[in-house]
Amino acid sequence: MGELTDRVAIVTGSGQGIGHAVALELARRGAIVVTNDLSGCCADDTLEEVRALGSDGLAITADVSDAAQVESLVDAVLEKYGRIDILVNNAGTTRDNLMVRMPEEDWDLILRVNLKSAWLCSKAVLRPMMRKRYGRIINMSSVSGIAGQAGQTNYSASKAGLIGMTKALAREVASRNITVNAVAPGFIKTKLTENLPQDILDTLVANIPMGRWGTVEDVSYAVAFLASEQAGYITGHVLSVDGGLIMG
Ligand code: NAD
Repeated sequence: MGELTDRVAIVTGSGQGIGHAVALELARRGAIVVTNDLSGCCADDTLEEVRALGSDGLAITADVSDAAQVESLVDAVLEKYGRIDILVNNAGTTRDNLMVRMPEEDWDLILRVNLKSAWLCSKAVLRPMMRKRYGRIINMSSVSGIAGQAGQTNYSASKAGLIGMTKALAREVASRNITVNAVAPGFIKTKLTENLPQDILDTLVANIPMGRWGTVEDVSYAVAFLASEQAGYITGHVLSVDGGLIMG
């Protein structure tokens, strides 16, 4: 029996990268895990790994920036399990460019995929969580949302927006025993970051006090803690997982 036994968790964008590691860590701790990704990606593969760890779950292909698809996803989970205890709003992407060259579509897309998706998913799980008087919502922000990153006006705005939303919602639902927190990873080796040029990678590492990139597991342990019973008095918090890159 793990500390999350019988808790039902949804992890968006868990076909690969950080979301994949989070799904597996929650499963290791006993949670039932609903994996999700866009079509063509790997929610099914992640679910197989969840099952191999001895947990149950569902794999749901859905674009979580689309309201109707989010509604179907949440309905399917409620129909099968009757509750949702943990929501990890992890799905996200990048369309980097200097502002002068950034097309308006890339601004809209990043705000929709990174920020609106979390608003839609959180809104959809709130009533079920309120009915059970229990919930853990964890939003995947970024150091870029705290410090800003050149070439990422869209991404930084979406990740800063997640922090504002985290704090506002935390205040709205604290009395219902629902906590809402954010995790702000630094530079983590995933497909999202693998194409950065080597000189930029070297400069980035030189600025990290711990002198290394983070791993997806580093982030997954922080999320699993915020999802736990033990984190029940922590809400509206932004937990940096960045090797000391941003200190306060
Ligand atoms: P990734 O690209 O490896 O994985 C993201 C997953 O989300 C992909 O499988 C993708 O298909 C899925 N996804 C994208 N849009 C979706 C949608 N609309 N609906 C459902 N699924 C969708 O990226 P990652 O590095 O694992 O990043 C995960 C999260 O962590 C993102 O929100 C990202 O912004 C954030 N983050 C990453 C880093 C990093 O250094 N890798 C740093 C800070 C924050």
